[in-house]
This record gives sequence, structure tokens and C-alpha cells, in this order.
Amino acid sequence: MVDYIGVARIQALMDRVGVAGLITGLAKEIEADFLRWGEFEKSARHAIHSAVGVIELMPTADGKLYSFKYVNGHPKNTAEGLLTVTAFGVLADVNTGYPLLLSEMTYATALRTAATSALAARALARPACTRMALIGNGAQSEFQAIAFHAMLGIRELRLFDTDPRATDKLVRNLATQRLPGLRLVRCASAAEAARGADIVTTVTADKRNAVILAPDSIEPGMHLNALGGDCPGKTELHADILRRPDARVFVEFEPQARIEGEIQQLGSAFTVTELSEVLAGRVRGRVSREDVTVFDSVGFALEDFSTLRWLHRLNREQGGARSEIDLVPDLADPKDLFSSRSAGAERARA
Ligand code: NAD
Repeated sequence: MVDYIGVARIQALMDRVGVAGLITGLAKEIEADFLRWGEFEKSARHAIHSAVGVIELMPTADGKLYSFKYVNGHPKNTAEGLLTVTAFGVLADVNTGYPLLLSEMTYATALRTAATSALAARALARPACTRMALIGNGAQSEFQAIAFHAMLGIRELRLFDTDPRATDKLVRNLATQRLPGLRLVRCASAAEAARGADIVTTVTADKRNAVILAPDSIEPGMHLNALGGDCPGKTELHADILRRPDARVFVEFEPQARIEGEIQQLGSAFTVTELSEVLAGRVRGRVSREDVTVFDSVGFALEDFSTLRWLHRLNREQGGARSEIDLVPDLADPKDLFSSRSAGAERARA
């Protein structure tokens, strides 16, 4: 039998551990795995594009465990009452190839993206940041807000979305959370939200080279957490922001970021640094207080690996209704797959 975490189970885990607790725990797991970067098999994710979206597979392994995530990105979906991003994933044993866990990853992706964003910002942003602009107030936004409140000490969130109902929803949801000292400021534009912010998170969904942030919105010393540009032809930052002489650009896995990130707008000679180098202390993140640091995030398989491994453990440690599914046949004679084929039908008849 294979452990199974469905939507109801992860909702129960979020309720029990708390969203902030899950995000801070996940950030530790992700950081520990980034620190052993060299042990992972890494490749740019496999993407199948259509005119309206993308479906991607994200595998990695560390010699002991293997994982993959299935994830889509369809910005037009919300107009049809569907999520932009849905996901599920598998954790497997490298030694036998047997799956250990099948898990929903729509919530898990929001949790791990928030954890990775805050982890990167902790390494790259100026110390003692308190104000963050949050541009794009859709499905990911509450998780981002909670992560930056818990891990960075953000106390003012400056909100903007082209859809005011998305901001209404974010304000409503954050009011139900215990977020001491957090002040929410609704803004009329992305430029207004960014004004005076220490950190600017862009997490919008639009399948085009959008300009969510223009060069004149950038102030010296800002940290940009750019999440929504994660596909060829889907970006958020004006390329001149990346070209600023004081800009330092950081990515998760360079070969994937070159295809999918903001840096797809620039040539291969443009220099970027992988986050693992900064976390390991081999390369400095921010060199001066005035640098503009950019985390050009697209989401990398290692973050999902850490998430699945941690969820597998957490699910077993926490009580409550734990599920398993019969994803792989359990045979008395592993060479006799054939004679077991009618067992299910017999059980159903009994
Ligand atoms: P969503 O559709 O729920 O929310 C996106 C929001 O962006 C919507 O409310 C929309 O109105 C708003 N928006 C669109 N254009 C805008 C603009 N010009 N200015 C301001 N707001 C605008 O999507 P989501 O699940 O929150 O995901 C947001 C983005 O993050 C997507 O592009 C997704 O692909 C990306 N994402 C990245 C990672 C990562 O690891 N980097 C992980 C998950 C999602």
C-alpha cells in the first residue's frame, strides 16, 4: 500500500500545524536540501505548452529518494471557476522504485513557494525589512503574506491586483489569521504598492510578457521576489530592471531559469547566481545596502522533493485519519502478476 495525502488530509494538517508552522518547517527542509545541492539529479522541468497554458513534470532524486510533481499553469482558468495552478506529486524509493507517497500538491505548492520565497528573501533582502508590496492577490497570495510575516517580520503589506475582488478576498482571509502587528494597505496601482517597500513580491498570472513592475518603480535597496514569470513568453519585470548596474539576479536552477524566468528576456551572457551558492556561503547575496536583489523564481523540483519527504513524515507523525491506496499490487509471488488479476473482482463480489 502507498501512503496517500488527499485534499482533506492536507487541509487537516494545515489546521493542526497552522499555515505559518508548515511554511517555517518547510523552509528548514528546503534550506537543508539546497545545502546539499550537489547530491541531487537536476534537470529543467519537462513542459508541454498549449495556447492557453502549460502542463509540466518536475523530477529529481538524491540517490535514496525520487520525486516528481505534475503541475499546470492556466491563467485563463479563474474566469471559468477553476484554479490557475493545480498539482500532485509522488515520492518513491530509489532502491526498489516503489512509490511511497501520492500527495495532492496544489496546497503543497503554495506552501513550498511561500517557504522558498521567504528563505530567499532572508538571504538576499536588507536586514530588518518591514514593508512588502504584494502584487497579484490570487491563490498564492495569503501563503506569501503569512510566510513573510512569520519569517521576515513584515508588518505592512501593500496590496494590488487588477481584480479588486481578489484583494477583497485576501484582506478577508488575512483577517481570520493571527498575524500580530500586520497592517494592510490597499493600493491603486502596482507602482503605488511598490513605493517605499523593502520587498516587492509579484505573483500575477498572465500568459504574456507583462510589465507588472516598470523600471521607475524600483528604489535602491529593494528586494524583488518575482514569482509569476515562470514560462516561456510569461514574465513580469521590465528587462531594464534586470539590466540595472546595481541589480543582482538570483535563480533556483540556472538551466531552467534561462528558459522560464525573467532572464529569458536577456541573452545567455547575462550573469546570474544560483540561490544554493548564497545559502552555502560561497557567493555573497547582497553586496551593499543599495543593491537591488532579484529572486527570479520559477519553482524547482528540489523544493517539491523536500515538501513530499516532509509531508510523508509529518503525515505519519500526526494522528487522525491516515489513508493508503492500492497503487501497486502486493503479490505472494512477484513473478505471478497474472493470477492476482482477479483478486479485486473477487473482493468486489464478496
Ligand atoms: P491566480 O490566478 O489565483 O492569481 C493571480 C492574480 O494575478 C489574479 O488575482 C489576477 O487578477 C492578478 N493579476 C493578473 N494580471 C495582473 C496585473 N497586471 N497586475 C496585478 N495583478 C494581476 O494565480 P496564483 O495561483 O496565485 O499564481 C500566480 C502566479 O504565480 C502564476 O503565474 C503562477 O504560475 C505563479 N507561480 C509561481 C510559482 C513559483 O514557484 N515561482 C509557484 C506557484 C505559482
